[in-house]
Amino acid sequence: EKVEPSSGRPGRRLTVLSGPSGVGKSTVVAELRRAHPEVWLSVSVTTRKPRPGETHGVEYYFADSDEFDRLIESGELLEWAEFTGNRYGTPRGPVLERLADGVPTLLEIDLQGARQVRESMPEALLVFLAPPSWEELESRLRGRGTEPEDVIARRLEAGLVEMAAEKEFDLTLVNTSVQDVCHRLIALMTGPEGALPPE
Ligand code: 5GP
Repeated sequence: EKVEPSSGRPGRRLTVLSGPSGVGKSTVVAELRRAHPEVWLSVSVTTRKPRPGETHGVEYYFADSDEFDRLIESGELLEWAEFTGNRYGTPRGPVLERLADGVPTLLEIDLQGARQVRESMPEALLVFLAPPSWEELESRLRGRGTEPEDVIARRLEAGLVEMAAEKEFDLTLVNTSVQDVCHRLIALMTGPEGALPPE
């Protein structure tokens, strides 16, 4: 059965997952990639260097700064943002193609990117991934405790600002478990419009 894009609201099945850094977005996306091939995950372009285990074209398209400039200038990015010294952007073409085909489409992007999508595609569903508690986010941001206190302090401050963005989103999912978040996201993206799975 072919899923038709909802009439008059072509971007309705575009879902954006965002939230403060350290909340576990990439873990959720990895699980979706593994368990839910029916959802299409946009592959971003980034100027950051690949981490061990990352493959060009899977987690990201890795590009140099000149290539990224070119993508911006030619209007090929749906949104882009600079995050901790690197640039990240969503290629526009593949997203529009999937949406035209009625494929549930997910962007996992930072808060600045989510705001741009809100502007350019107001029909998109913006989902905020929240930590179970501030203490939880703080301990994740502190990580293994190898960073100097001033760096930790700056990250925590950024985390507070990021948490305040929650009210700009259509709904919040609390990251109590990766499976739970995935289940809810899939229900949102593939179920009847507006349907939310019970708590
Ligand atoms: P990381 O370097 O850890 O993979 O990603 C850093 C941040 O960049 C994360 O918050 C992630 O959500 C965000 N990000 C990844 N791809 C994109 C993108 O295409 N656009 C925007 N705006 N942010 C992105």
